[in-house]
Amino acid sequence: MAVRPEHLVLHLERLLQAYGREQTLAVRPTAAAAPGGMPPVAPRPGIPAPPRTPSTAPAPASTAPASRSPAPAPTIRRPVRAPAARPTPAPTAPPASIPAPAAAAAAAAAAAASGDPLAALKSELVDCTRCKLCERRTNVVFGEGNPTAEVMFVGEAPGANEDRTGRPFVGAAGQLLDRIIGNAMGLERADVYIANVNKCRPPNNREPQPDEVAACLPFLRQQIAAIRPRVVVCLGRVAAQNLLGRKESASRLRGLELEHDGIPVVVTWHPAYLLREPSRKRETWEDIKRVNRLLGRPEVPKPADG
Ligand code: SF4
Repeated sequence: MAVRPEHLVLHLERLLQAYGREQTLAVRPTAAAAPGGMPPVAPRPGIPAPPRTPSTAPAPASTAPASRSPAPAPTIRRPVRAPAARPTPAPTAPPASIPAPAAAAAAAAAAAASGDPLAALKSELVDCTRCKLCERRTNVVFGEGNPTAEVMFVGEAPGANEDRTGRPFVGAAGQLLDRIIGNAMGLERADVYIANVNKCRPPNNREPQPDEVAACLPFLRQQIAAIRPRVVVCLGRVAAQNLLGRKESASRLRGLELEHDGIPVVVTWHPAYLLREPSRKRETWEDIKRVNRLLGRPEVPKPADG
């Protein structure tokens, strides 16, 4: 029995529908294409007509013979999109007041390369966390003054005013130190260099603890090495004991011939102590006279108000 092509096509379509591949075969003869003017095949009752959605697959170049196996369902290739580039997160800027360690190290290296060892040291300490005093400080109080000063004053640690301003000896004790420098030495504050053993304020102005001194003292030594003053004046017991590695009180260390790294050291009272004990000012005057002698400076007449 002769098999009509349109029947074969219908059969194949029903098979495809049974397997879940509903599609219209492109080999269906049409009235226009089929010789003999065969009418298009109407859908059979109970078999829904396949949807006439436009296909994205390319049309076959030629009509396949009806006896061939049905062509595999065309694979619709979707355009492959390149993965969207993820936006690169902007680098988090460090807080303005606390430079990142890398930035501080770079600043220190630049300062060292410029031949300014004090600037290099200062850059190294600007965000220092070497001891627990960093936790409550406002500013690191590095020190200030003439980088080639002949005399360097060394105190204990910053107080509240110093912590707030970042400058050493700016409170009432600092003003007294300014008067000592001016009245007993005939110098300006800018002529000398002023620093502390610890660069950050201890809570409630307590004495720096041994681990805090151990962390910070190397920087004072480097400051002294960079400035190379002719005389170092230790203001009070804490500065004297730590710089000199001695255990005695300030009253015992006063008047002794001492030195640090070949530089003469004179121990005198801390200005804050002089504010509490003004009767000790006379002893401070004597100590500063000794400094003047070490520097070869003329003796300054003692003012009437002491
Ligand atoms: S006291 Fe000295 S060692 Fe301690 S955090 Fe301050 S700068 Fe650093």
